[in-house]
Amino acid sequence: MHSFEFMEPTTLAEALRLLATHEDDACVFAGGTALLLAMRQRMMVPEIVVSLGRLHDLRTIGWTPAGGLRIGALARHGDVARSELVQQHYPMLAGVAAGLANPQVRNQATIGGNLCYADPATDPPSCLIAMGAEVTIAGPDGERRIPMRTFSVDFFTTALEPGEILTGILLPPPDPQRLGHYRRHLRTAAEHRPVANVALTARRVGSAWDEVRLVVGAATPSPQSMTRAEAYLAGRAITLDVAAEAASLVAEELAPISDGRGDAAFRRQVVRAATRRIVAEAAGLDWKETAA
Ligand SMILES: Cc1cc2nc3c(=O)[nH]c(=O)nc-3n(C[C@H](O)[C@H](O)[C@H](O)COP(=O)(O)OP(=O)(O)OC[C@H]3O[C@@H](n4cnc5c(N)ncnc54)[C@H](O)[C@@H]3O)c2cc1C
Repeated sequence: MHSFEFMEPTTLAEALRLLATHEDDACVFAGGTALLLAMRQRMMVPEIVVSLGRLHDLRTIGWTPAGGLRIGALARHGDVARSELVQQHYPMLAGVAAGLANPQVRNQATIGGNLCYADPATDPPSCLIAMGAEVTIAGPDGERRIPMRTFSVDFFTTALEPGEILTGILLPPPDPQRLGHYRRHLRTAAEHRPVANVALTARRVGSAWDEVRLVVGAATPSPQSMTRAEAYLAGRAITLDVAAEAASLVAEELAPISDGRGDAAFRRQVVRAATRRIVAEAAGLDWKETAA
């Protein structure tokens, strides 16, 4: 690996100043699980590596009934999975964090690094978008707050501007009427990363749903909201036929990627099946009744 200088600021202001001073020569280091691989393969060759490891405030997870959840960008996936606050109030997110990658990665990799690297083959982005998350970003001009759905822009591309640091993830207060379900598909049992995933949240209103959010991840360059199926599902009593029709709408709207782990047609089929199952499960129906 090429040589570089490793800097460990102890305040966010100092970290931002280092990034501003060294501009394109510098990059941020969180857990290092993605960055070190990229540096070893010379996809990234920073001269200055700015570690966030001493910014302990960025690793905390806090919750208030009125304000909801705040996860510091430096929280490890394992921190999120083990947090009693997350388990109690946001079980869908706790389950996603507990099920991704492997124990070594979960205990080293940060949720912020996951979002900032914007590798499509990941789990939290689609889940967080379906949960209505926002992110907080610190930069030379102060802090800004944007919806997670606008943070993931494209394949390995986010809304971060040069010199900015992701500081946290915000989730709205839990709503007892809002259901949340997540499914990920692995190509083989030996793989860690999803080839596709589907996240669903909706508000129960009597026997129907409204405020439906259905988001596909890993199958697309960045998470894709399935707007046609969301509109179709809203206000409708959910039956197995409705789940199948929503899955067809998703398959039509989806713009999947093709890569060595699966072509677009394969991903479309996987997402279609996952959508039918997740919608049925969320409505308490047995999706196997429609299985071919
Ligand atoms: C074997 C393996 C299996 C995996 N399986 C899965 C999986 O199943 N599901 C899944 O979702 N993910 C999976 N991952 C990806 C893993 O979640 C990411 O590698 C990890 O979250 C990146 O976090 P990090 O803290 O290590 O980031 P780093 O490697 O430190 O940084 C990654 C990038 O983000 C930038 N960055 C990091 N933090 C910030 C910040 N706060 N502000 C601005 N920029 C920042 C860095 O500059 C760098 O460009 C897997 C990874 C490995 C190695």
